Amino acid sequence: MSDSGPSTVPHKRPRLDDSNGPCEVPEYYKDLWFEDGSVIFKCGAASFRVHRSVVCVHSQVFRDMFSVGTSDTMQDDVPVVEITDPAEKFFLFLKKMYFSHAVQIDVSIGFSILIDLLELATKYMVDFIRQEIIDYLHSILPCTLSDYEHQHDFISGLNVPELIMAIRAGWKYGIESIVPTALYALCVHHYGDITLWSEGSDVPDLVRIIALCALGYQNLQGLKRVTDKRAWSQAVYKTDSKFHCQEDLRSELIIIMTHSIEDESGVYKYWEDIHIFEPEGFYSGIAKGSPQMRVCDKCRERWKRWEKTAREDAWSKMPECFGLTWPDAGSSGEEIS
Ligand SMILES: [Zn+2]
Repeated sequence: MSDSGPSTVPHKRPRLDDSNGPCEVPEYYKDLWFEDGSVIFKCGAASFRVHRSVVCVHSQVFRDMFSVGTSDTMQDDVPVVEITDPAEKFFLFLKKMYFSHAVQIDVSIGFSILIDLLELATKYMVDFIRQEIIDYLHSILPCTLSDYEHQHDFISGLNVPELIMAIRAGWKYGIESIVPTALYALCVHHYGDITLWSEGSDVPDLVRIIALCALGYQNLQGLKRVTDKRAWSQAVYKTDSKFHCQEDLRSELIIIMTHSIEDESGVYKYWEDIHIFEPEGFYSGIAKGSPQMRVCDKCRERWKRWEKTAREDAWSKMPECFGLTWPDAGSSGEEIS
């Protein structure tokens, strides 16, 4: 309005933001300020001077952007492009493009940062970053039982917000195959925490996710019973006289089942149990062989095979508990009404 008073506009700063306050940008943002850079990306108070050639090699969106001309705003004869993404996200995204190995794609950078990077890699069509993150998500939330067993400890360490982020990313970015495993993990490890956590949270899709968990929990109970029955029936109903330790195995199974039904502590009730694929499941005692167990090693191995077959069959049906299917098992069950 008036020209009185000294100008406090910092030198060499175009009028892109009106705030003359201190520009509190992290020192490390200088890593992405190259004196010979040919474009300046401006995110709020932060600026990154990088090379058009480098970002264009990776990003279809930047290729298209620069092919139709650049911005009218210039700073030191370099075009300035305003970016609406948060500076920290965009910094990490550019850094990954420039120094790929410096930005590790795993949970060590934080699950939410991983998903942020996926969002930007999708938005700006940077396939190598997108694919690296998708591959990583596939590896930690696998769709085969053997991979799940390998990843079990890691998966059970993922917390409610992380699993919910994974589910939403699966839907949003076309990585549907991670969704059943993430939903299962949410049910089996955190069912009691979900509603507690969701209070006061405004995460999109939350109601849908909680509803899927509630439905899934019930269905998993059913699946668990079917799985048990399948494994059991061979040991209990089979009348093949060649089955060496059948009577002893039956006795072991009766002990397990009776305990699980009658347990008054409320900690471990059969009808609440959905631990179908967990290493410390119902029958791990039989599988490992306790010292007092009378079933011989050979028959125990036979039992383990039965139980494994039953679990593999259950795994193939697990997504159905959430109204989903595994990706290669036919049509996508993504939409549930
Ligand atoms: Zn035997």
